[in-house]
Amino acid sequence: MKNVFIIRYGDVTLKGKNKKSFIDRLVEHIKKRLHSYPITYHHAHNRLYLTIQPGDYTAIKKDLQTVPGIHSFSLAQQTTLEENAILAAANDEIASYPKPLSFKVKTKRADKNFPIPSMVFSRKIAGHLLINHPDLTVDVHHPDCLLEIEIRPDKALIFSRKIAALGGFPSGTLGRGYLLLSGGIDSPVAGFLAMKQGIEIEAYHFHSTPLTSIESVQKVIDISKQLARFSPKHQLTLHLISFTEMHQAILNTVPEPYHITIMRRMMLRFLETAAERNHVPGIITGESVGQVASQTLESMKVINAVTNRPILRPLTTYDKQQIIELARTIDTYSIAIRPFEDCCSIYVPKHPTTDPRVFYALRYERLFDYQSLLKTMTQSMHTLIIKPESQLDLPRLGFTVEEALKGGNHDYQRGQ
Ligand code: ATP
Ligand code: MG
Repeated sequence: MKNVFIIRYGDVTLKGKNKKSFIDRLVEHIKKRLHSYPITYHHAHNRLYLTIQPGDYTAIKKDLQTVPGIHSFSLAQQTTLEENAILAAANDEIASYPKPLSFKVKTKRADKNFPIPSMVFSRKIAGHLLINHPDLTVDVHHPDCLLEIEIRPDKALIFSRKIAALGGFPSGTLGRGYLLLSGGIDSPVAGFLAMKQGIEIEAYHFHSTPLTSIESVQKVIDISKQLARFSPKHQLTLHLISFTEMHQAILNTVPEPYHITIMRRMMLRFLETAAERNHVPGIITGESVGQVASQTLESMKVINAVTNRPILRPLTTYDKQQIIELARTIDTYSIAIRPFEDCCSIYVPKHPTTDPRVFYALRYERLFDYQSLLKTMTQSMHTLIIKPESQLDLPRLGFTVEEALKGGNHDYQRGQ
């Protein structure tokens, strides 16, 4: 019976003096994620061993694949140190593969008191397996199945499959960042990559309801539910800010080629103030060089000019297909392609500038009182704590975010 998960840490093990604190955080996150299962934990040799009751492990596997910092894991059978018990487990393991099959047995002795040397023991077990399974061949260089036997002081662990996990660093160990989250394909993936790399995020979404539909905000809520799965608290803080008045002011006063540039600068100005107030060092966006006309290096330079904070753009060098594949794996793609558009995809200028200048941007921004509009935006902010199981359904509750949250379930609201 398989009943031990062997968890391997990722880049955490490359850390120097503070490796222990990274590992402690990771173990804490794993325990939090699996708190509802009866499990005993044991940490040794840069690995975590989870002993669980025999049963269906599908849910645990899925949970482990959402914890940043885990590199891979294996489900092992635990036996006594008796040769017959180990051989029986090895037989089971081999029986689970289609044949013909090439294999290799590798024994590791964490306990050198075990009387048989590793190589000798591997050969012995392999010999038995060859007799028991007619379609087996040994291949010591590139086997289809690498059967591993780990000898510990009081037990043996037998396993062969390595299940890849997220890698990266435990959440929050590499700082905090604010994510500019749209309902599109890209920014959820950018947020996920930042989370995977150990950054604890909060999401900010600027909506223009009722100029744009409330369904576009629902997309962001549903995307946030998916992203929440990767946080140790299993929740994501989502700030919804009304961009409607700012949006209208930009459409009415700024020359069309600069619409997107100025909109982004206003979003970043807003985040800059919030980040300064809350001591959050980084900002994350889903921009990718060349993807749309406004996403050029020149354009990023003009957008960046309103903040000194590092702006992480994890997707800068990804092409669309790579981004879509990632979006599919984190289950945000099908939400992102729902047809509702947000403030930046509606009223898209026909000829956005690909080569904007800070000088012009500043000049256009003097045409309207953006400072007071930024203040209005702050007052309009609603903060929601989104969990994967959140049931918030805005389109049923109103046409604007304001309306919907007033009439709706206030459990999700944490105040202004
Ligand atoms: P996405 O798929 O993330 O919407 P995109 O390729 O459509 O990206 P743009 O619409 O130009 O690109 O947006 C670039 C980035 O600006 C987004 O990835 C996101 O980080 C941010 N952004 C755009 N619109 C909003 C919004 N309404 N609220 C918050 N952030 C936004
Ligand atoms: Mg977009």
